[in-house]
Amino acid sequence: MAHTHYIKKLLHIKDPNIYLSEVPVTREKKKDQEYLVVHGKLTYRPSCCKVCGVKNTSSQDLIKHGTKCSTLTLTHVNFQPVLLRLKKQRFLCKHCNSTFIAETSLVDRHCFISNLIKTTIAMELKETQSMTLIAQHLSVSPPTVIRVMRQVGETLEPNNQELPQHLSIDEFKSVKDVSGAMSFLFINASTHRLTDVVENRQLPYLLDYFMRYPVEARNKVKTVTMDMYSPYTQLVIDCFPYAKIIIDRFHIVQHMNRALNSERIKVMNELRYTRPRDYRKLKKQWKLVLKNEDDLDFSCYFTHRLYEGAVTEKMMADYLVQLDPKLECVYALFNQLKWALEHRNFKRFKSYLEESKKCTLPRKARTVLQTFEKHLEAIKNAFVYTLSNGPIEGMNNKIKNIKRSGYGYRNFYNLRARLLISYRLTTSNYQPRALYFEDEKAV
Ligand SMILES: [Zn+2]
Repeated sequence: MAHTHYIKKLLHIKDPNIYLSEVPVTREKKKDQEYLVVHGKLTYRPSCCKVCGVKNTSSQDLIKHGTKCSTLTLTHVNFQPVLLRLKKQRFLCKHCNSTFIAETSLVDRHCFISNLIKTTIAMELKETQSMTLIAQHLSVSPPTVIRVMRQVGETLEPNNQELPQHLSIDEFKSVKDVSGAMSFLFINASTHRLTDVVENRQLPYLLDYFMRYPVEARNKVKTVTMDMYSPYTQLVIDCFPYAKIIIDRFHIVQHMNRALNSERIKVMNELRYTRPRDYRKLKKQWKLVLKNEDDLDFSCYFTHRLYEGAVTEKMMADYLVQLDPKLECVYALFNQLKWALEHRNFKRFKSYLEESKKCTLPRKARTVLQTFEKHLEAIKNAFVYTLSNGPIEGMNNKIKNIKRSGYGYRNFYNLRARLLISYRLTTSNYQPRALYFEDEKAV
């Protein structure tokens, strides 16, 4: 008896009603695959009839009535699948004359794959790997993996009754058959936990989605962090009347850098045939132009093949920028704005923005400034709140990898289930940051 006890323990067979036979483990070969087969019997004294519900008090009520053999995929040992050949007891009810079969917690009714394997599949689905690979490792078929994924995904769905107080929203490139091919995701900005994935990021669709939440839940939302995509602003106004919009700081800088870069390219192309040396400098050293002026090194001299004599990073950047007065102007202005953003000085940011109206700027730079004007209130919040879209952008990156690992997804609901498993099955021990920069400074 002792050895079967340890075999059961080893294979996670926790059901006390399963009794292993005299020769508990054998080997079998099927389709080039070797299996370990564990033999056992499932039997117990049922408390009542499964069909009519009559209480089992004596052999006048229920009797044992033969067995039914079923083979279950149990687990894996040393890369070998382990099957459990289980003789399940059948019972006959003398009251309703019907039979029923003994049940075990090891496996669901009508299933041949143990719950242990299903749990393992769910755990494996959290990682970035293809579903076929998981199926191969666990000796199940790919459709089984998909089925488990959908089942587990369903249990992880948000309840549509509550919303986090701080939201962070973004979109990601989704499956082909979604119109616009972009889907929408939103997370809890303070705990970084994924809340839900929505198929379509277009405004009517999102309105429809968020209106399903009760109005009390929507009123509780305090902030929404996002990029400068204007339909989202409308979404917040309509769905979360008490929420403040925060523009992600990274996107503010990105807007400026894009404009700066296009100005550099314009100057570069103008110089292409007249001053090829300067053209090359502008082309090769694009990074220097985008780097914050304060971060440029001005003490370390070195020789550079494009320049004569010893130079520093700062000298090179200054040289590049002075090639065109307009570029110089944009560069100076954007660096001021970046400085203000970095030092959380909104007053300065606003005054620089005001001053910029006096000088003539290239069209693209002007557009950026106009966008800032338009979202000024939301940008101001970025100077106050520590919340950002960083975590959600990180998620976006992982989504890309998940999609690639499966050679793309065709069905949005499968992708959604996979994402819910990846991000909602875990309990992260992330410590939320202070909400305001002021509080953070105090600590
Ligand atoms: Zn009965």
